[in-house]
Amino acid sequence: MSRPVTIVTGGSRGIGAATCLRLAADGHDLALGYVSHPEAAEGTAASVRAAGARCVTVRADTAEEADVERLFDTAAAALGPVTGLVNNAGVTGPLGRLADARTEDLRRVLDVNLLGVLLCCRRAAREMTALGSGAIVNVSSAAATLGGPGDYVHYAASKAAVDALTVGLAKELGPDGIRVNAVAPGLVETDMHATMGDPGRAERAAPGIPLRRPGAPAEIAAAVAWLLSADASYTTGTVLRVSGGR
Ligand code: NAP
Repeated sequence: MSRPVTIVTGGSRGIGAATCLRLAADGHDLALGYVSHPEAAEGTAASVRAAGARCVTVRADTAEEADVERLFDTAAAALGPVTGLVNNAGVTGPLGRLADARTEDLRRVLDVNLLGVLLCCRRAAREMTALGSGAIVNVSSAAATLGGPGDYVHYAASKAAVDALTVGLAKELGPDGIRVNAVAPGLVETDMHATMGDPGRAERAAPGIPLRRPGAPAEIAAAVAWLLSADASYTTGTVLRVSGGR
């Protein structure tokens, strides 16, 4: 049987990098997208290749249609028909109340987290419909239902939109043999918290999490890998919460 070929957006660091490593171990060949950290992308790609998988890295800002098209074109040219997509790339902008947010930050979050996912899903739908099979996993957030008050209601709203498009696209593409699901992580130890201006955020939140700790990227990757796998062959349109009970 041929190996699955999976695109992971934002595969250079954090949850995306852990997902690439897990999928490599599970037998996928990978197209790893990144936007601004080529050295991190190459480091993750080296680990993926060391695990025996083929891997191509592509600088692709998912908010840019031409970049998304190039990501898919490169993946197919280097690895063969794309059978899987993990929409992992995401940003929050700076932490704070909506009243203090800058329009450019709101726009960027929606462009990356919503438009970017739609652009990637659209291209994947075209490719996978032609194949008659495929699986898409969108990385949402527990914030989609918690709302992110005081921190990032715009980010929470963008992730709630991802949940909605997951449900709708699963229904639209089910008859074509394509499954669409999402994983909604809670607080996970990655660079994202420092990027939004609060490096200690995940650890500090631990007492409020039923499992009393933030998640590890590999724990999110395991859920993504399951949803892409044949073990999830009857699962579509679901948002799988992986949040330590939060
Ligand atoms: P991270 O450590 O900040 O890594 C972000 C990744 O996304 C990097 O690989 C980055 O690439 C890439 N990226 C950012 N903007 C991009 C763009 N416009 N186009 C393509 N790639 C882009 O983040 P993370 O914590 O792993 O988050 C991954 C996903 O999980 C996001 O969707 C996030 O919303 C979601 N999530 C995270 C948490 C958490 O607590 N960490 C909780 C819930 C949901 P470069 O390396 O090139 O910059």
